[in-house]
Amino acid sequence: MDDGHTVVDGSVVVRDGVIERLVRRGDALPTDLPVVDVGDDPVLPGFVDPHVHLEMAATAMFGAVDCHTPPCGSVAGLLEQLSRFAHLRDARGGWLVGQGGLFAARRFAEQRLPTRHDLDKVSTTFPIAVRFGAHVTVVNSLGLELATRQGLPETGDSHVVRDDSGELTGELHELFYGLPIPSLTEAEMTSALTDTAARYLTSYGVTSIGEITNTTAGLRLLAELSGSDALPVRTRAFVWAPGTLPLDEAVRPDLRSRFPTGNPDFAVHGIKIFVDGGFSAGGAAVLRPYAGKEHRGRMAFDLGALSDLIRRADDAGLQVTAHVNGERAQRLLCEASVAARGDATGGPPVRLEHAGNVVTDLTTLDHWERAGAVPVAQAGFLWTMASFIAESLGDGARPGLFPFRTLLDRGWALASSSDGAGSELLQFNPLFNVSCAVGRTSCIAEEINPGERISVMEALAMHTSHAARALGVDETVGTLCTGKRADIVVLAADPREVPVSRISSIAVRRVLLAGRRVDHGD
Ligand SMILES: [Zn+2]
Repeated sequence: MDDGHTVVDGSVVVRDGVIERLVRRGDALPTDLPVVDVGDDPVLPGFVDPHVHLEMAATAMFGAVDCHTPPCGSVAGLLEQLSRFAHLRDARGGWLVGQGGLFAARRFAEQRLPTRHDLDKVSTTFPIAVRFGAHVTVVNSLGLELATRQGLPETGDSHVVRDDSGELTGELHELFYGLPIPSLTEAEMTSALTDTAARYLTSYGVTSIGEITNTTAGLRLLAELSGSDALPVRTRAFVWAPGTLPLDEAVRPDLRSRFPTGNPDFAVHGIKIFVDGGFSAGGAAVLRPYAGKEHRGRMAFDLGALSDLIRRADDAGLQVTAHVNGERAQRLLCEASVAARGDATGGPPVRLEHAGNVVTDLTTLDHWERAGAVPVAQAGFLWTMASFIAESLGDGARPGLFPFRTLLDRGWALASSSDGAGSELLQFNPLFNVSCAVGRTSCIAEEINPGERISVMEALAMHTSHAARALGVDETVGTLCTGKRADIVVLAADPREVPVSRISSIAVRRVLLAGRRVDHGD
């Protein structure tokens, strides 16, 4: 697999961790190297995930009950799952913590979230907190009592939900970190990071990531562990600001030197900001008003503040990557980039996270182009949220959902990322995202713009060559070409030859990082 999607029948010669050359079947192999015969199994470049929240996912899943859909298809099923794994509370200071997915209220058979009274059926003697996605948490009555005793700050987006009679339902918004659940020790964080990387990155063949940081402590661990046998991925980190650090502290030339340096498989590469919000809460800054509403979302910056930020990032040698769900936010960021740099090429291109998922007006692409911006889509969101995005934006937006065919035809080397943070586990698997880009079916079995279907090879490129380019690592990884690092995966079947519904369950038989085997296979 190279940039031209060439498929070679033959062997990959690896020397000193680097691809020396490809040898066609029948031609002579070097005699001084051991041979690994994988038969007819396809050999691909290691997958690249340019936008993932490894630490956030590790923290969310550590000692937590898996309450995603699947395996939980209903509130009743969720309660059973919590009871079955109630012993996990020992790992979280006595709290039974669950992690569920986005839009659970729509995906559960009862078409609602649980309340504290539901969770009380699991226990009234120990506290329970179940998160759905990153923003919504439901606690049982004891959990609510412990939380209110210490105080729940209702500021900004944080609030507690009450029913019509004013009674607390147990549903909390943006308050998970306000709960008195002990945070992870450094040893716990280390094992959470390495376990999560093994389970959700290496086992799926991911060898390079763009990490959106969470805490400075977690970032330090990644700086030490990346590329080692304990955490066998190459990491480029984007410091979330304000979050990991206040914005003014992040956008400084000394940002890199604040974290351990000298690990060739780790680098602090830029910052990650939020320009707008999400579609479901009406926060994404879109071009036309939300269905049945008058508002068009909100933005955290104006043009002046954004271009000033890009100028400072350029001076500090940092790339700006931004959450820009809505096209209005994408246009503002692109305009700010042009304003900051004038005619000069300036620093690294701004990255538009979530661009390419919804394009309701193709002139948005002109804005991307003028700024030389890099869109990073999430093919997995086709399954998770395409149907719900259409509901909040209105039917007029439907033809603009995940227009991958159009974008590729217009010459965009569109990349895909997992955006994995623990909310949706399926998306960590690049082959799941490939199946979404090819099959285009949502989680409520809706077919989404079948005319925008792309081929398996094109979808694979979104997680290999295109993703490497988006992450700025295409000189060294992303294709099987002479001179690149021997980051290689071997699959159990050819994704082009199995039904779309089976692509995501193709096993990854072998993972090599710089020619070294790093999976836990036999
Ligand atoms: Zn993200």
